[in-house]
Amino acid sequence: MSNMRELYQEVILDHNKRPRNFRRLEEANRTANGFNPLCGDKIALYLNVEDGIIKDISFEGLGCAISTASASMMTQTLKGKSIEEARRLFHSFHDMVTCGGGRPECPPDCPALGKLEAFSGVCEFPVRVKCATLAWHTLNAALEGKDDPVTTE
Ligand code: ZN
Repeated sequence: MSNMRELYQEVILDHNKRPRNFRRLEEANRTANGFNPLCGDKIALYLNVEDGIIKDISFEGLGCAISTASASMMTQTLKGKSIEEARRLFHSFHDMVTCGGGRPECPPDCPALGKLEAFSGVCEFPVRVKCATLAWHTLNAALEGKDDPVTTE
């Protein structure tokens, strides 16, 4: 059913062309860098977290359409969410882009992904899964306060 045209849905192309929250966040108190050597995608993620809430989130980076759009839509989705909600969304997202095969620990009350469902076609293209999840892995590292750059390998 899926083909490359469906993979690169309009919404993905739009976010790639005009990434949202694409800037350095001066008041960031959590940051992390991610790298996907398979594709060459790079991302720097900035978060301002207060009282367990993601007050602001932004990113900079250079990568393919999937990785840029994924980071852009992730920042849009997570602004104002709690860290707990962000973690659950990560599980839902990861589950979706691996065709349900990646996260057995995904709780039964996994939150709905809304616009992020644009990436559901990615699961047919295993190489692209790392592009789509790079921003989310980087988010995890930022929330856990890891200093080492994340790689998807
Ligand atoms: Zn990529």
